Amino acid sequence: MVVRLEGHDCRHAVEQALLSWLPERERVWDGSLPETGDALLSRLSPGETPPRAYARLRLDGALGEGEALLEGPWPEEPLLRRRAEQRLVKTALYRALTACTGETLPWGALTGVRPAKLAARLLGETGDDPDRARAAMERIYSLSPERARLCAEAGMASRRVTRELEDRDAVLYLGIPFCPSRCAYCSFVSHSVEKSLALVEPYVDALCRELEGTAELVRETGLRLRAFYMGGGTPTTLSAAQLDRVLGLLREKFDWSACGEWTVEAGRPDTLDREKLAVLAKHGTDRISINPQTMEDRVLAAIGRKHSAADIEACFHMAREVFPGQINMDLIAGLPEDTESGFARSLDRVLALEPENVTVHCLTRKRGADLNVREGLYPDGEAVSRMLEHARDRLTGTGYHPYYLYRQKFSAGGLENTGWAQPGTECLYNICMMEELCHVLSLGAGGVSKRLWRESGAIRRAVNKKYPKEYLDCPGDAVERKRKLFLEP
Ligand code: SF4
Repeated sequence: MVVRLEGHDCRHAVEQALLSWLPERERVWDGSLPETGDALLSRLSPGETPPRAYARLRLDGALGEGEALLEGPWPEEPLLRRRAEQRLVKTALYRALTACTGETLPWGALTGVRPAKLAARLLGETGDDPDRARAAMERIYSLSPERARLCAEAGMASRRVTRELEDRDAVLYLGIPFCPSRCAYCSFVSHSVEKSLALVEPYVDALCRELEGTAELVRETGLRLRAFYMGGGTPTTLSAAQLDRVLGLLREKFDWSACGEWTVEAGRPDTLDREKLAVLAKHGTDRISINPQTMEDRVLAAIGRKHSAADIEACFHMAREVFPGQINMDLIAGLPEDTESGFARSLDRVLALEPENVTVHCLTRKRGADLNVREGLYPDGEAVSRMLEHARDRLTGTGYHPYYLYRQKFSAGGLENTGWAQPGTECLYNICMMEELCHVLSLGAGGVSKRLWRESGAIRRAVNKKYPKEYLDCPGDAVERKRKLFLEP
């Protein structure tokens, strides 16, 4: 397809919009438009009143046009002006694609990974009126009514948290990049302990050093911790003694007086026992996540899990006996060999356990995951979309509400991941992370720390070495990066 841009240079925005519809089609940029064949003209006319974007598309012989108008004048601030330009260009293109193909997308012209950020902004502009924010999302971005509602609910949760936060507030993340074995869909930097057992103990040593250096930084800067999250990988791959050491040191070195939440991902049932649960509880962990992904044994086998759905239920009951806090359970829609009825059965079995939170993900096929090479096993995008619809109806009908959401590139059908919570059990860390509401201090391999300027929304990052081996080879590097990030102006 030949693509010509006129009056703007928002190539990335056009690329993102095209990716949602035509991921495979090759593009030639800025050519003169041919008489025949696939072609796109994307034009921005900033001099017109109101400012207007226009798109004309020829695709597989069909023609479509679309336009988008800015509501109000151009923003004066350059960053906001740039965003408005991108938004207009994408919306005009979305409308041209819709006219050409007769199809619509649930997320309309929105391509970003954090749609609730937009909802929170619109809520701010409409005096926290969810109906007006929803209407604006449908009108400006062509969101489906369901997605606009979902987004507005997550936006409201974000607004509530924002009002409670101060400039000095931060969340702390600690990553354990090991798992008992590797799931077939996984693209994280997680190492199977079967292969990397020798790295685990030195990793814990290095983590403890980073933890002490970071605690010193927190004292120097006056940062205040509001939530803690231990993720991975699967943190409970560590032994009870290793967990005791890390969590004990965390308790000792940081001031937790303003922190209302400690989460540990207990991930897989094959890593959890009563002793580890008792260690988590002893150090004040008040939320864990037990993640079945599916309750269909056939699907568990297809993704390389070495346990059954009955093991997950037994693990959950054991946790309820020993562990007094909240429990989240993750499910994934779109796993290989799963079906709509299989997904519905999984959700029923999870809900029968009455976890406080349920997180419903869409399968994302990324480089590095074994599943990439096993085509033909996946439910299609429309089936995944129906799974999410079913989850939405079932969860809302059971008293859960959506409180955070995000999208990932290459997720099935361009759909979203949503965190659902029983009232009063929303995970603060998830909201802060997804909506980028406060600073992030991140410990361990691959950790990304963020310094946030709340007024402007500007963010700077410091990234730890990605792989455990690299992380171990550079002692002091992770603390040094964080010091630079938070101490330099
Ligand atoms: S448990 Fe999670 S992090 Fe570990 S291999 Fe499976 S998907 Fe990856």
